[in-house]
Amino acid sequence: MSLSEEVDSATGVTAGTVDRHATTETFESTAPATGAVVGVFPVHDATAVGETVARARAAAGQWAALGFDGRKQRLAAYRGYLARRMHELADLVHRENGKPHADAILEITLAVDHLAWAAGHARKTLGPRRVAAGMLAANHAAYLEYQPMGVVGVIGPWNYPVFTPMGSIAYALAAGNAVVFKPSEFTPAVGAWLAAAWRAAVPDAADAFQVVTGFGETGAALCRVPVDKLAFTGSAATGRKVMAACAETLTPVLMELGGKDAMIVDDDADVVAAADAAVWGAMSNGGQTCIGIERVYATAPVYDRFVAEVTAQVQRLRPGSDDAATYGPMTMPSQIDVVRRHVSDAAGAGARVVTGGPDTSPGERYVAPTVLLDVPESSAAVREETFGPTLTITKVRDAEEALERANDTTYGLAGAVFSKSRDRAMDLARRMRSGMTSVNSVLTFASVPALPFGGVGDSGFGRIHGEDGLKEFTRSKAITRQRVPLPVNLMSFGRPAGAADALARVMGMVHGRHR
Ligand code: NAD
Repeated sequence: MSLSEEVDSATGVTAGTVDRHATTETFESTAPATGAVVGVFPVHDATAVGETVARARAAAGQWAALGFDGRKQRLAAYRGYLARRMHELADLVHRENGKPHADAILEITLAVDHLAWAAGHARKTLGPRRVAAGMLAANHAAYLEYQPMGVVGVIGPWNYPVFTPMGSIAYALAAGNAVVFKPSEFTPAVGAWLAAAWRAAVPDAADAFQVVTGFGETGAALCRVPVDKLAFTGSAATGRKVMAACAETLTPVLMELGGKDAMIVDDDADVVAAADAAVWGAMSNGGQTCIGIERVYATAPVYDRFVAEVTAQVQRLRPGSDDAATYGPMTMPSQIDVVRRHVSDAAGAGARVVTGGPDTSPGERYVAPTVLLDVPESSAAVREETFGPTLTITKVRDAEEALERANDTTYGLAGAVFSKSRDRAMDLARRMRSGMTSVNSVLTFASVPALPFGGVGDSGFGRIHGEDGLKEFTRSKAITRQRVPLPVNLMSFGRPAGAADALARVMGMVHGRHR
């Protein structure tokens, strides 16, 4: 029986993963494309969450004691398991989230790549090393190492139900922590599948990665348990609640929140490539991408060609749930209203709708890909995260004005710059107020495991992926070891009179000559 079939069967709960907890309330996960029930899952209450975290805590010591090599071996078994069952997991993602199967494969590929990188680089990034001891401690050896925190709680969204949480889960596990994951209430089957896969692939450390299911209250319980760190990915509004709950127990948090990412198209850009990237960045996954492109600022010389190319490409997109579809239904029904409101408000404020629009839905759960021109900068379509298949395109004088407008947002997750001039593009990328920027492509930084992922401002703080992502789930530990005792110990009440004067003279000789 496949893991999906196990998840589907009876209660929809995979044996031995999320059904061991004492709770009677359940909820259904349904396929956005068809309304069919994907699975039935427990609503884990505070007691059940507490029990799960206690089991994770009991497993955490053993998991940490496996060391870098032992964990690397088990994380390899896990990623091998995911890679062998890629189509099965992609099918579940397709059914529960609605995205095309091929896009689900892409998402799982990224997750597997991150698992490999995190496990492969943990020792080098986190392992013990000697550092320079400095002047006063010259007779000591100084050591730095990054120790696991214990149990990391991961709360995830529904839009990339494998890739997004894995950015925390893989790095937290590789760093030696146990993990308790609360998937979105819109994608619990994918979360349960990931935990079932872990138990199957890593039976000797099964409790090092567990899942609890439910709504916001289950997530809130995970914040209050407490855990040793809470990695949250979701909206800024929920992020604030998570921080408030974690403040009660002084639990450190990682915040991966929303965005309003912009693309700058400069005079010398490859317009066709920029349009292709903008359409993918804005419309793939039905626009439900935190690092999706929602705004484009194109300079006057390229604006008309860019708009024509984007419009032509968008009109070729095909909604649906079959293999030929380029985008699927909106996963979360309430998001449809947000997208329609943004488009209607913009149109009401004078924006031109060149394709799509609020009244052109290809189906009850679908939003037509919509391109808006001349949108007032004060409107919701420019200021708020839309999280749907929409794109605003604004004509600007030059790249400097584009950058100014791109940076005029409370968010700061990611963005893109299109220009054939390497120096200009890199300069714009550096000055873009965002955690990540792609030059002459979109979203690429997310597929480079060595690069940190995270935002600024309302897009959150802390970093997943790369060395920063490994360190995020550790506590740095400083140790000094005296190698040889010195005849004069300055950090002792027994130090000779005049020792401080001698030290001041030495400091003057060594550092005093610098002006
Ligand atoms: P959401 O904030 O509604 O929910 C996220 C998770 O938080 C869910 O699992 C939910 O059950 C849980 N939750 C809700 N209330 C809670 C509470 N009071 N305490 C603890 N947990 C609670 O977000 P969503 O709709 O699932 O996801 C979409 C949002 O996520 C968008 O804003 C998107 O930009 C963002 N996102 C960000 C990233 C990133 O890496 N920066 C990645 C993907 C999505």
